[in-house]
Amino acid sequence: MIDYLIVGSGLAGIAFAETCIQNGKSIFVLDDHSQNSSKVAGGLYNPVILKRFSKLENAQEQLILLNSFYSSIERRIDAKINFPLPILRKFFSIEEQNNWFIASDKIGLAPFLSTNLLFKQYDGIDAPFGYGEVLQTGYLDTALLLDKFRSYLEENNLFREVTFDYALLESNADGVRYMDIKAKHIVFAEGFGMHLNPYFRHLPLDGTKGELFIIKASGLDLDVIVNTSVFILPLGNDLFKVGATYNWSDKTDQPTEEGKLELIARIKEILNCDFEIIEHFAGVRPTVKDRRPLVGTHPDYSNIHILNGLGTRGVMLGPSMAKALFESIENGIPLEKSCDIKRFDKKKWITF
Ligand SMILES: Cc1cc2nc3c(=O)[nH]c(=O)nc-3n(C[C@H](O)[C@H](O)[C@H](O)COP(=O)(O)OP(=O)(O)OC[C@H]3O[C@@H](n4cnc5c(N)ncnc54)[C@H](O)[C@@H]3O)c2cc1C
Repeated sequence: MIDYLIVGSGLAGIAFAETCIQNGKSIFVLDDHSQNSSKVAGGLYNPVILKRFSKLENAQEQLILLNSFYSSIERRIDAKINFPLPILRKFFSIEEQNNWFIASDKIGLAPFLSTNLLFKQYDGIDAPFGYGEVLQTGYLDTALLLDKFRSYLEENNLFREVTFDYALLESNADGVRYMDIKAKHIVFAEGFGMHLNPYFRHLPLDGTKGELFIIKASGLDLDVIVNTSVFILPLGNDLFKVGATYNWSDKTDQPTEEGKLELIARIKEILNCDFEIIEHFAGVRPTVKDRRPLVGTHPDYSNIHILNGLGTRGVMLGPSMAKALFESIENGIPLEKSCDIKRFDKKKWITF
């Protein structure tokens, strides 16, 4: 019998798998490539919600863990995936500069917002009001992480490409059984695919579609990430990742004409040079109405767990939420109420 069967190998499933491996637990992972939020993600990590000038909860702790966690994965998969890089907020007015100064004075935000305005000229962008720099930021090459981590699992016979059939799951006091696999616990990390999971589908997972581009812009000279209504992330060779849109009604992962036009309009607000669209991606972020993760153990089955709802912040939240779930299962350390699925009414849950 293995310790953990994990359904899903996006950022959440990988974070839990890595946490198990680091703690000497045996795992097996299933995935069917039905969701691609982690694969297409911008991969940015940023401790500040720039729109509202508020800090993410536990941001500093999450960043410390993030760096050591992804370093450990880099060694395991023998590839560089974590790229620390400044994120610059482009200002459009004096008022925006002033708001930045006020925010950078706030307790909690001071470690993350530089008080020095930047007036560097990047070819391809007019920025007469300059930029504010967010500190301790960067991006993760999520597509490479997914690809390499899956190869690592495959090489060690720890992965099967299959659609999980919920009807075949058996659970008893000792653990769970799924086809030929016996495990002490099962952790569901299916992202937006959770809607098909009868054990957890009553949780309020909303889903927010996002679209992004890879563009080629030889007139743009950028060695940092610029963030306004969209982010522009340099990939090298005149290629840039640009995104993303937010759509709350369309739950498919197909790129749309509407998304394309929106992104083009946003890019034109920032760039004054020509660009060519090389690729256009879309995915559904597993967002939750109260903007908190969905983590915990099923109220009626002590060996069935969930790690989901990472929303727009899978890169930063994945490692810390995986750790919290692991410690709650293994050591009985209670989850923070704000992310524990217990915050939702148990009466609405289906019991088998
Ligand atoms: C356009 C866009 C831009 C984004 N940008 C950022 C960003 O810059 N920074 C950031 O931190 N986050 C970003 N995100 C959000 C981030 O991608 C998510 O928080 C994260 O991917 C969620 O990971 P997950 O593992 O929960 O879900 P997913 O990535 O959806 O993974 C779920 C996995 O489970 C598998 N699965 C589902 N159902 C089954 C089943 N029944 N059987 C087998 N396998 C199954 C799926 O195939 C999939 O591989 C972005 C998302 C999008 C769409």
